[in-house]
Amino acid sequence: MVAPIYLSTTYGFDGLEGRGPYDYSRSGNPTRQQLIAVLVGLEGGAGGDATNTGMAAVNVLAHRVLRQGDTVFAPHDCYGGTWRVFNALANSGFVQVEFVDLTQAAAYHLISVRRPALVWVETPSNPLLRITDIAAVTEAAHEAGAVVAVDNTFLSPVLQRPLELGADYVVYSTTKYTAGHSDVVGGAIIAARPNDAEQIHWWCNTLGATAGPFDSYLTMRGLRTMPARLAVHNANAEYLVAAIAGHPALTALYWPGLPSHPGHDLAARQADGFGAMVSIDVGSHQAAVALCDGLELFTVAESLGGVESLICSPATMTHAAMPPEVQEAAGITPGLLRLSVGIEDAADLAADLLAGLERAAALRG
Ligand code: PLP
Repeated sequence: MVAPIYLSTTYGFDGLEGRGPYDYSRSGNPTRQQLIAVLVGLEGGAGGDATNTGMAAVNVLAHRVLRQGDTVFAPHDCYGGTWRVFNALANSGFVQVEFVDLTQAAAYHLISVRRPALVWVETPSNPLLRITDIAAVTEAAHEAGAVVAVDNTFLSPVLQRPLELGADYVVYSTTKYTAGHSDVVGGAIIAARPNDAEQIHWWCNTLGATAGPFDSYLTMRGLRTMPARLAVHNANAEYLVAAIAGHPALTALYWPGLPSHPGHDLAARQADGFGAMVSIDVGSHQAAVALCDGLELFTVAESLGGVESLICSPATMTHAAMPPEVQEAAGITPGLLRLSVGIEDAADLAADLLAGLERAAALRG
């Protein structure tokens, strides 16, 4: 029932002319291969690779797609680490990067004018959970000759399958919902077409970005419960949002499942669930501190997608790599808190957060 973990770094040849399916573990490993096969199957892709981190997946994709002088379009509120990669590539003069709001139709026109080589999509976006129309952006990008990669970390293939919507690549931090237990860092890239899949594997091997066997095993163990976990994550998020909506300490509540969310209809159309990432704004950094100090179930921590509930301040934690003016343009305020809703008892989670909101409200007087 459980696949073995192949720790061997090297594999014996059957004589000088007898190369087997595996020779060296960076290039190929049976445990990793099992993981890749499952991930590719879930996405309906042609192939891909599992990487040692989500950021390695981002970098491999950049190496595969980008050439000197190319233009990259990325969401203005993309994950801070991804922002740092594209920004660094631009600063070194390798590419130009434009951080745009891909949720607005005006971006499609910009794509047709600037003709980027790569359009990077994250939906729901991090941390404001804006929804981008994957099929529409892909159509505009393809018309302009661009390749589309979707970072699907926030929803997982259980809830959203970008390749089915036309994207060329789907990218993951498998650290999050895929592995799901906050005990392994990893990533993956799945390509829609066989040639791209081969190239992804070539770059993973060349850059030394492939996932190790034990990490692959842990990720596969997490995958077994991914649909069951996501059902509880989603239900808990819905319960929590209903419990806190309208609280006087809140200046904003972001969750695509809310009918008032600008991307609600689109999210309902293109995904099979709204996910368990919820962001709230309590108006100031001081109010955010008051809310977090005293939480019992939510842990103040970076990352997301594990079974435990986490809360973080994007401005000072996940998105700290962005300078203040860039944060402001992306709508990342000092009072913003991002919640990764876990699978604990929903009523307990709501009570914990409501107590925090009371502390924030008391501070604001
Ligand atoms: N993409 C998204 C949306 C993320 O949230 C993260 C990490 O938080 C990454 C990529 C990077 O993944 P990793 O931390 O596994 O390198």
